[in-house]
Amino acid sequence: MSKESWEPETEYIIQKFECQECNYTEEVPTHCGKPMRLKDGRLICWMGPDCESSDIPEHHGKPLKIIQ
Ligand SMILES: [Zn+2]
Ligand SMILES: [Zn+2]
Repeated sequence: MSKESWEPETEYIIQKFECQECNYTEEVPTHCGKPMRLKDGRLICWMGPDCESSDIPEHHGKPLKIIQ
């Protein structure tokens, strides 16, 4: 993965996740003490993708809907 500069832009902030199929909601996971951000369809640590980057959580086998 190419190293890119990272700024924790406010546009990457997400509030929570919602299931597309049921009423399930999930809090945004934290990393390094703050909520993770969303960029290019992945969860990224607010410190940057070099710290942590993970897939969107799933429910009923589908990625959760992102509420921004
Ligand atoms: Zn569900
Ligand atoms: Zn981190």
